[in-house]
Amino acid sequence: MHDSLGSRTIERSILESPLSLSKKPLSSRRKFLGILGLASALPVSRLLLSSGVAAAAETPAAAIRNREPLAASAFTLLPMGSIRPAGWLREQLRVQADGLSGHLDETWADVGPNSGWLGGAGESWERGPYFVDGLVPLAWLLDDATLKTKAQRFIDWTLEHQAPNGMIGPTSNNDWWPRIVMLKALTQYQELTGDSRVIPAMEKYFRNQLSELPNRPLRDWAKFRWQDGALSVIWLYNRTGSPWLLDLLRLLHRQGYDWIADFANFQYTTRITREYLNLNAGGGLKDLSLATHGVNNGQAVKTGPVWSQVSGSAHDRAAVLRMIDELDKYHGLPNGMFSCDEHLAGLNPSQGSELCTVVEYMFSLEQALAICGDPSLGDKLERLAFNALPGAFTDDMWAHQYNQEPNQVECSLHQRPWGTDGPESNLYGLEPNFGCCTANFHQGWPKFTASLVMRTGASSQDEGLAAAAYAPCEVRTIIRGRQVHLIEETNYPFQGKVKFTINPESAVRFPLQIRIPAWAAGTTIDVNGQPASSPAAGSFATVDRTWKSGDRVEISFPFQPRVSRGFNDSIAIERGPLVFSYGIGESWVKLRDRGMTADWQVFPTDQWNYALSIDPDAAVETIAVDEKEVVASPFARRSTPVRLSVKARKLDQWRPEDGAANPPPQSPVTTDHPEETIVLIPYAAAKLRITAFPLANKQA
Ligand SMILES: [Zn+2]
Repeated sequence: MHDSLGSRTIERSILESPLSLSKKPLSSRRKFLGILGLASALPVSRLLLSSGVAAAAETPAAAIRNREPLAASAFTLLPMGSIRPAGWLREQLRVQADGLSGHLDETWADVGPNSGWLGGAGESWERGPYFVDGLVPLAWLLDDATLKTKAQRFIDWTLEHQAPNGMIGPTSNNDWWPRIVMLKALTQYQELTGDSRVIPAMEKYFRNQLSELPNRPLRDWAKFRWQDGALSVIWLYNRTGSPWLLDLLRLLHRQGYDWIADFANFQYTTRITREYLNLNAGGGLKDLSLATHGVNNGQAVKTGPVWSQVSGSAHDRAAVLRMIDELDKYHGLPNGMFSCDEHLAGLNPSQGSELCTVVEYMFSLEQALAICGDPSLGDKLERLAFNALPGAFTDDMWAHQYNQEPNQVECSLHQRPWGTDGPESNLYGLEPNFGCCTANFHQGWPKFTASLVMRTGASSQDEGLAAAAYAPCEVRTIIRGRQVHLIEETNYPFQGKVKFTINPESAVRFPLQIRIPAWAAGTTIDVNGQPASSPAAGSFATVDRTWKSGDRVEISFPFQPRVSRGFNDSIAIERGPLVFSYGIGESWVKLRDRGMTADWQVFPTDQWNYALSIDPDAAVETIAVDEKEVVASPFARRSTPVRLSVKARKLDQWRPEDGAANPPPQSPVTTDHPEETIVLIPYAAAKLRITAFPLANKQA
């Protein structure tokens, strides 16, 4: 029954009409406020869930900053639940909840009732914790009772079945790695509910880990992902101050892989192959394979900032920028990702990036941005969140890809161009290639929501707020002892206007830091209708004043089209944080039903081999912008609110081979074909696409 229902659902969504919600414009203020839930301006209240859960809180929770001797961080993430999604972002989370995220346990045994993390005999490793790590914030940010109940089962089983020695999780394995993921879920859950069972359980678990690690050290995945475990130890230390947790942090660092040294002398500068890793000889989990593994690298990006809180070293803190630079220099793609299919894969825009890496890289950037306060990390985060993340899903989020490509001309069973992945890697489906992404993708949008606004300042005397990334939301927090309610109204990333309304319970002075992306020279900021100083691109601009209820800050980012350069001097077109692609005609062909969903191949219905015929130094003059009202599902092709028109010319020598586009020929290229106008749409809206184009020589 589920089978046919699910198939119809996905077919209707993809082939017939966009989601019905998408026809409703969000333009009217009344509608916008309705979505925000501002009809009643009551504080966010917490729900009573089960025994051990704190009484409903009427006031927001304050952010908890680093406790000495940990180094102070530039910003502090607000407790999960302080930031609620609004506008298109809330609709996007709702799509996610109505798609695979909200139903995965009903159709995929690995997180179903027989999961080892529910006491069953089924999958007992990372998939249950992965699912809960995204389901917890999704359920609470949407205040969705059904999803909360689903997440609560995993949380309750984990807390109620802790071993006498402190170990959590299924007894069928004692791998540290899946516990690292469940601890991330538990910290979010504690912030959302105040459940008094969480902190004692974590203390007991970490005491056991401290005594066990000398005999049973980190290995395999846990060794290469130790920094994610360190996050939860730091979280607990900031709440309990137990000094032995600092010993545990040093032990994790000592046993974990030295990512900082790896990137200080980066060796993996070319496409990694099976032969290089000796995989065909049954190489298995060798350090070389794990060090060049895409998801591991995505998680590694946070290592320098995380460890700098313990080491106090500015060199460690800055390591994040060196890591991103090296990954971009040798493996960077126009969607903001580095290639990894499954291992680092070079600069060709036909290489893929794994969805797990997208969401893990985002999480690393969110943590690194909070610790370092570097605005470029926000630029990178938005590039992933608004392009690579939605690009990997069908519009209804019932199917996803394992690997996505910037130049993706066909999604079918083919081996090329993947370095070490299998032939299903870019199908849209339930678990193409491997099921890790099926379990892990859920954290992407909810954790991005939780990172939009951060607390600044090293003490309660100098604290303020920072707009770290932009999307519609509502924030309730405490600044300098006063409750502050902040509303962010925007259609960013589709339009360049952002409006903050600040409502403190009584007048209070604090700085509001506003991230100005590196591409946003010419941004203007108005405060209550009066121009403030003109901010520099690539910085945080500060508005420091005594805020009164109803104060407004309006930001206008310049959203002119611009050109970036890539592999073989190819060019990509950007506008604001969005990357644009030529949307190739799509023919969706179902490969097979998969429970409530299905696996799909996508074949091109028209030609895509265009070179752009533009002046890259005068993009504004040569690219026309067509902007429409922003509606729900704005990343869907049918409802995309912005299109660009550019001149292009066909290029005969650029062809596909075995389901993949050949690399774009070295630019500039010469072609005899006449100039025509093609339309570019946001990267994520084009499930078949060209993003990196050759540049055509000027016609004689
Ligand atoms: Zn994955």
